[in-house]
Amino acid sequence: MKVDYIIVGSGLAGILFCEVLKQHNKSFVIFENESQRSSTVAGGLYNPVVLKRFTQVWKAKEQLDLGLPMYHKLEQSLNVKLDYKIPVHRLFASVEEQNNWFQACDKPNLSHFLSSEILHPKNTAVKSDFGYGKVLETGRIDTATLIKSYRGYLQNSNQLVDETFVYSNLILNATHVTYNNYEAKRIVFAEGFGVDKNPFFNYLPLKPTKGELLTIHAPDLKIDFVLKSSVFLIPLGNDLYRVGATYEWEDMSPDITTKAKEELLNKLDKFLNCDYRVVDQIAGIRPTVKDRRPLVGQHYQHENIFILNGLGTRGVMIAPYVAHQLYSFIENNIALNKEIDISRYKTN
Ligand SMILES: Cc1cc2nc3c(=O)[nH]c(=O)nc-3n(C[C@H](O)[C@H](O)[C@H](O)COP(=O)(O)OP(=O)(O)OC[C@H]3O[C@@H](n4cnc5c(N)ncnc54)[C@H](O)[C@@H]3O)c2cc1C
Repeated sequence: MKVDYIIVGSGLAGILFCEVLKQHNKSFVIFENESQRSSTVAGGLYNPVVLKRFTQVWKAKEQLDLGLPMYHKLEQSLNVKLDYKIPVHRLFASVEEQNNWFQACDKPNLSHFLSSEILHPKNTAVKSDFGYGKVLETGRIDTATLIKSYRGYLQNSNQLVDETFVYSNLILNATHVTYNNYEAKRIVFAEGFGVDKNPFFNYLPLKPTKGELLTIHAPDLKIDFVLKSSVFLIPLGNDLYRVGATYEWEDMSPDITTKAKEELLNKLDKFLNCDYRVVDQIAGIRPTVKDRRPLVGQHYQHENIFILNGLGTRGVMIAPYVAHQLYSFIENNIALNKEIDISRYKTN
């Protein structure tokens, strides 16, 4: 079977790249072995402000301008709801934090995204003596629904190969690559954390971070915004809330842990003032990179081999942006943004 592209991995990176290929009428198949769950378990938040340091997320406006229309198009083609517009409220722990917020509101690159009004809701279920600051242009993409629906669509159109991609079976030619009975002009690897097994790209400095999230049932909480304190609290509807996430750099097992659960509950109990019950816990491994920039580009020796990885902690916002960057680079010869180009790293 001849196609324009083989893609390995149908997480956010692989799926958004498929969407760009579709827009340009390119043919493709995608391999997926369901070995990882980062894109499925993600909180799915998109938020243009780093709320720890009060700085703007890298290329926030460009990413939102490009990304949200893509998710809206996907809502239509898959016939599902994906984008839940919801404000993020930053809970203040002190007057000093309020002052930092006011300073941030005055910064030209943040004023567009932050409301300078301090909110004091009467909800007693949250300890909020110092109030909240509201971040604008935020929301949540239901990534679990996106991944499930998109894989369903790919399956129906015979574009999903439900198996592990075996690197040693890839044959490289001057003008194309072959893999079992597939021949493609190019191959794009988008395996997230799994790139550590990829002999073409495992020299790149991916420093994966495991994350865990809880789901709680809290009937008296009644908040209709994402609350950001030491953790995020994300309303899911029906009195369910997602709490997270943790950051773990040593244990890369896919399993949930008691340690993470205790850490999240300790943090939650510092600001929550109502009863709740834990109903679920999930874990995934984020493909984070030392310099916090994605890993995008062409293999240094093999010109038909590409990578789309390193989406880190903000895959929802960054995936559409890097998918477009890679496509324009391959098909239109437009240089990649230097900060994401893998040529910034030595080969071995
Ligand atoms: C707990 C947690 C919370 C998060 N919250 C947010 C959030 O609120 N907002 C946000 O923007 N981001 C969030 N993220 C980050 C986001 O999930 C990641 O940036 C994103 O999922 C990375 O997508 P990816 O496609 O690169 O990798 P993955 O989702 O890991 O996808 C790679 C895919 O490749 C497949 N694969 C790997 N190797 C092979 C092989 N050899 N053959 C076949 N298939 C293979 C895997 O099974 C997997 O499906 C969160 C992550 C975690 C873990």
